[in-house]
Amino acid sequence: MEDFFVQHPLFRQISRLAAEQQKEAYLIGGYVRDYFLKRPSKDIDIVVIGDGIQLAKKLAEQIPDSDFAYFKNFGTAMVKTPDYEIEFVGARKESYNYLSRKPKVEPGTLEDDQLRRDFTINALAINLSEQHFGELLDPFNGLQDLHNKIIRTPGNPELTYSDDPLRMMRAIRFATQLGFEIEENSLNAIRTEKERIRIVSKERITDELNKMLLSPKPSVGFKLLFDTGLLEIIFPELHRLHGVEKINGKGHKDNFYHTLEVLDNISTTTDNLWLRWAALLHDIAKPATKRYDTEQGWTFHGHEDKGSRMVPHIFRQLKLPLNEKMKYVQKLVLLHLRPIVLAKETVTDSAVRRLLFEAGDDIDDLMLLCHADVTTKNEFKKIRYRNNFELVKTKLKEVEEKDRIRNWQPPITGELIMKTFGIAPGRNVGIIKDFVREAILDGDISNSYEEAYQLMLEKGKELGLNPV
Ligand code: ATP
Repeated sequence: MEDFFVQHPLFRQISRLAAEQQKEAYLIGGYVRDYFLKRPSKDIDIVVIGDGIQLAKKLAEQIPDSDFAYFKNFGTAMVKTPDYEIEFVGARKESYNYLSRKPKVEPGTLEDDQLRRDFTINALAINLSEQHFGELLDPFNGLQDLHNKIIRTPGNPELTYSDDPLRMMRAIRFATQLGFEIEENSLNAIRTEKERIRIVSKERITDELNKMLLSPKPSVGFKLLFDTGLLEIIFPELHRLHGVEKINGKGHKDNFYHTLEVLDNISTTTDNLWLRWAALLHDIAKPATKRYDTEQGWTFHGHEDKGSRMVPHIFRQLKLPLNEKMKYVQKLVLLHLRPIVLAKETVTDSAVRRLLFEAGDDIDDLMLLCHADVTTKNEFKKIRYRNNFELVKTKLKEVEEKDRIRNWQPPITGELIMKTFGIAPGRNVGIIKDFVREAILDGDISNSYEEAYQLMLEKGKELGLNPV
């Protein structure tokens, strides 16, 4: 197994340089873990007893097209080569104070450095000395935990999580990414220490959420977050989806587990993080819009609209980008019922045209979301919905080929209206513009400049305007 490291020219090179400088160096952490898991990795961490800056500098000099940077205060250096990012850190011992997740750091031994690592699977080290090259140093049985697919802390779990509560998120994220189990004492310790998560920055928490979302089966992470009590603290809106209320013996579905099913479904068809976010948030306003009606039973009227309006607040809270990605998520949340409604009714050209206009280039993603949203266990219903979706898809294609609405700009602009009637910007401009656009979308007139122009003149006349 250590053969790989023995053969690897880069590690040989680091080993030679370390010997020249009479330094002890070890390959450690994620790269070693990922090697045993057969996951390709570009990030390499090297621990050097003492200081690794000189070693890093020499290495950068020997590798063409590489960059070297160092941070004197931390004794850390980085070499970026075309193939790898190699970080050199002095072996350290850490001690924490209760108010911060940033430890006091002092120089230490390799054992100190392994002990400060979060999980046994992340504490594996490979010796890079010339005499013991390639030997695995595994004081906490990390290799066994890798084989048994277990996340375990090297030291006392309560202390490990309390010292740096980000590790709770990392434990759940690794469990999700790798399909591992969190060992029972560790899981209990997360439950006990959950409140400590409040000292971790939102950005770091969200970074872990994004990694969970990009995992093959993201529901694993969100269920663990729920079960440990972390979700309620870090993402209360999502937590609120959980639970079933009953009136007159009638319940509704549990929207938390439904959402996770939709998320897992969509994750089998796309790696687009933002589409996965849209799946996570598509029903976010169901608790806020829930009503019980004696005739209809449970309803969630307007949850798509309210949900879409909740997105900016959630993005701000989680420090997600407030840019076009957010708008995309808002749009998908807003429109997520439309193809279903279409599929239930007779599919008219004008309804399809309108949907195409509103969804634009995101129509295919919207259809993926709707597909993923079918979680009924009733096979007949499932087949019926899916068949109807196929019908909607065919219709979408037909209408798009005929009318080219996807990236359509209505032919009558505000500017043209102002110029034609010699008027300044104002209410009438909007009225005429909307009227012409709606007429085209409804199919009352064709999508041509001539007919649109004519209708603009008619509407203007109705408003008492004459062309100049
Ligand atoms: P990924 O690249 O998927 O985030 P990684 O484990 O390589 O996984 P890094 O954040 O680059 O993640 O960390 C490198 C190594 O540093 C880890 O393998 C672990 O040994 C250690 N480490 C990182 N974060 C912590 C932490 N919060 N507490 C203790 N050790 C940590």
